[in-house]
Amino acid sequence: MRLANKVILITGSGSGIGRSTALLFAREGATVIVNDLDEAKGIETLKDIHADGGKGHFIHADVTHAESVEQMVDQIIEQYGHIDVLFNNAGISGVGALHEVEPDAWERVIQVNIRGVYLPSKYVLPHMMKRKSGNIINMSSCVAEIGLARRASYSATKGAVLALTKSMQVDYAAYNIRVNALLPGTILTPFVENYLKTSYDNPATAIASIKKRQLSEELGLPEDVAQAALFLASDESKFMMGSPLYIDGGATFGKNA
Ligand code: NAP
Repeated sequence: MRLANKVILITGSGSGIGRSTALLFAREGATVIVNDLDEAKGIETLKDIHADGGKGHFIHADVTHAESVEQMVDQIIEQYGHIDVLFNNAGISGVGALHEVEPDAWERVIQVNIRGVYLPSKYVLPHMMKRKSGNIINMSSCVAEIGLARRASYSATKGAVLALTKSMQVDYAAYNIRVNALLPGTILTPFVENYLKTSYDNPATAIASIKKRQLSEELGLPEDVAQAALFLASDESKFMMGSPLYIDGGATFGKNA
């Protein structure tokens, strides 16, 4: 029970990494506030938490919409009194070299992946500051560090989230609030499965091309990232502040030849 009695909000936890993390955190004793834009998927995650004997609550909110994020945070504070951990996980992909990306598509990726970290943090932080206690985990990606073909908008946002994490840590350290970032490599989630389907004719070619980027023979799974998130959410990582944590099968720092 590494998260006993903690109240944890995970944005975008109806699917993929967020969902897997929500289930793990609940098994570790947390009360998990599941948030997603997709109500059916969020409720599905909550059902699985309950079926597993865990505690949780679903709140439908769009992380790009200030009013709905503020209402979500108010609702949690009213019901539980505080938020111990905020995991800013919700995000969308953006494919294309810069000149191929249409302005509206560019804007949407920026909105969800950056504003979607800014808004939940903005409304949760005053409560953490008041308690002089808090922990924020921001979802970046190893593309914040490496160049990856045809990911201009996506890598711009994930680089921004990494820089923001470091600045947030400096600003809120005095309030006993930690802020760290997760940098996964390619993880098999609906987000990636969808991209593979739309970008390649042959799934085997797609998997081979992903494997070429990393040192591990295995592809990353949502559970691999959930375990890293568990470490950051728990007090075991109390000396980690403003740091990137890589879960990428060697994609960032390794080279085979
Ligand atoms: P996923 O399976 O698509 O899950 C993301 C969830 O976020 C979806 O349920 C999505 O709902 C929700 N969401 C999207 N926009 C939202 C909004 N405005 N408000 C609230 N919820 C919203 O994706 P994933 O692969 O687990 O990715 C989770 C995070 O990890 C993202 O930030 C992603 O960039 C990051 N990441 C993923 C990988 C990877 O390889 N999978 C690697 C590095 C980083 P809808 O389905 O309705 O859009």
